[in-house]
Amino acid sequence: MEKIQQAARIIASSSDVLVFSGAGVSAESGIPTFRGEGGLWERYPANIYANLPGLAGVFLLSKDRIASFFSDALRPLVEAKPNPAHEALARLEEAGKISAIVTQNIDDLHLAAGSREVLEVHGSAYRVRCSRCGSREGRSRKDINDVLDKLDVPTVSRRQMISALNEFAGKCLCGGRYRPDVVFFGESLPMDTIEEAADRASRCDCLISVGTSVLVYPAATVPAIASSCGARVIDINPTETTLSSTADVFVKMEAGKAMPAIADEVLRMTN
Ligand SMILES: [Zn+2]
Repeated sequence: MEKIQQAARIIASSSDVLVFSGAGVSAESGIPTFRGEGGLWERYPANIYANLPGLAGVFLLSKDRIASFFSDALRPLVEAKPNPAHEALARLEEAGKISAIVTQNIDDLHLAAGSREVLEVHGSAYRVRCSRCGSREGRSRKDINDVLDKLDVPTVSRRQMISALNEFAGKCLCGGRYRPDVVFFGESLPMDTIEEAADRASRCDCLISVGTSVLVYPAATVPAIASSCGARVIDINPTETTLSSTADVFVKMEAGKAMPAIADEVLRMTN
């Protein structure tokens, strides 16, 4: 396909390729999207469920709703495996053809696929962060499954739920409480990560935007910075995005189909 060829030629002839990935890439691994039709926010309104005070309020009104929200949001996440798009991106990094991935996704599927330079601008479901000193700690799939199993019991009391959540989060050595290291609505992005992403965007000579509608700011400024600094832009998405009309190439395909084909072409051209 002509668009695949064009995208591959741009990547093969660039020296610093940055990837910007979004929910579409995760969706192909079975992770439900938050926005859009059929998204989690349709069943769980974002103005309530996407922030910590809102969640605390729901917890007081209906503990069952909290248990079902956590279950619907997190079970598919911990069960998901990397798909051909994640694997193709890891192959390109391994071959030295892409320098980093800036992802809006909070699953760790890029890392699970073997990518190493991954900037998680919306945080990660697999980390907690101290609300006092900011230090971070990892949590495994098993840790998340264990807490979901404890919440998913119809007879569970609020006290038992709080104790399970506290046990999962844990306490920092400084005495502060850990909270999820994900960016909720109304919160600012992790400054260190977004600064590095912006810096890389200003230096790259090619930006691949994949599986994202490029709507959620401020993360979506990453492709805008790259483009305004002269990088060529490749947009890969099954539907048009805010980048499609100005991108150098718009590959109107799902990431899991486009990325492996592009990776094969790039590696064929450069080997
Ligand atoms: Zn601390």
